[in-house]
Amino acid sequence: MSTDTIDYIATRVDGVRDTGRFDSNSQDVPLLEVRDLVRHYALPRETLFSPPAQVQALNGVSFCVQQGRSLGIVGESGSGKSTIARLVMALDVPTSGSVRLLGRDLQALGRAELRAARRDLQMVFQDPYGSLDPRQTVARIVAEPLEALTETSREERRERAGASLAAVGLRASDMDKYPHEFSGGQRQRIAIARALITRPKLIVADEPVSALDVSVQAQVLNLMQDLQQEFGISYLLISHDLAVVNHLCDEVCVLHRGVIVERGTPQRLFAQAEHPYTQALLSAVPRAEPALSHA
Ligand code: ADP
Ligand code: MG
Repeated sequence: MSTDTIDYIATRVDGVRDTGRFDSNSQDVPLLEVRDLVRHYALPRETLFSPPAQVQALNGVSFCVQQGRSLGIVGESGSGKSTIARLVMALDVPTSGSVRLLGRDLQALGRAELRAARRDLQMVFQDPYGSLDPRQTVARIVAEPLEALTETSREERRERAGASLAAVGLRASDMDKYPHEFSGGQRQRIAIARALITRPKLIVADEPVSALDVSVQAQVLNLMQDLQQEFGISYLLISHDLAVVNHLCDEVCVLHRGVIVERGTPQRLFAQAEHPYTQALLSAVPRAEPALSHA
């Protein structure tokens, strides 16, 4: 990406950089602070008289993301990763505990404040097929957060959608196409362009490359790394694969059954994982599902 493009995006976005944003001048305040997060899901009763069963998806999770830093959350399927993502995005309410963005408890925010917070907080989902509305043009899809969260004119939204697409390596001429005209990797670029458009401080990426071919995964991760450097974005990067978070994250938390069992730099975890669960994650190589055997 040329520096012209970056300057262009920066000025375009800063031009409307607005009033509702939280003050982030103090570098002491963590960008994101998650404290003692618990989320239990009630399951339907099996019979009228049986006690309600619960899934304890998160059991007291705490972590911090400092401004400009990135954190990885790694764990196997069902360990509670997406539950964390939903709670951090304020798409779900914790059973107990808190999520603070720049010192402000998301649960305590009113509608207008939450709308402002959402500009700082964007998300990229796992499935680039399901997460992009097939009936909308790319321009509409990418500009959607602006439409929902800011007061911008149609022309301005289109202009910024073009700049955002340029930032992820797509062309302005792609704006009037529809998602089905793109490959999986390109669709994930579109999803990233959408996340970028409000110039967020934090992007929560839940398994952003898991649905992509291995050859394309590296391209998307490299793009995320470039954007991290160019825009100072922080990631909360969620994956079942420690290798995916390795290059983008300063610190990694290993999640097992809703509890963080180990944390450290990716280098340290690769070199000397202490917890048996982390060691098991590291030794898990891609393989086909084991065949079912019947005695
Ligand atoms: P991951 O993203 O690591 O695969 P999730 O956060 O999706 O894990 O899920 C953690 C646990 O919570 C799983 O056991 C899952 O079945 C359960 N769970 C998630 N969402 C719900 C829900 N809405 N209702 C009941 N159980 C849920
Ligand atoms: Mg998940």
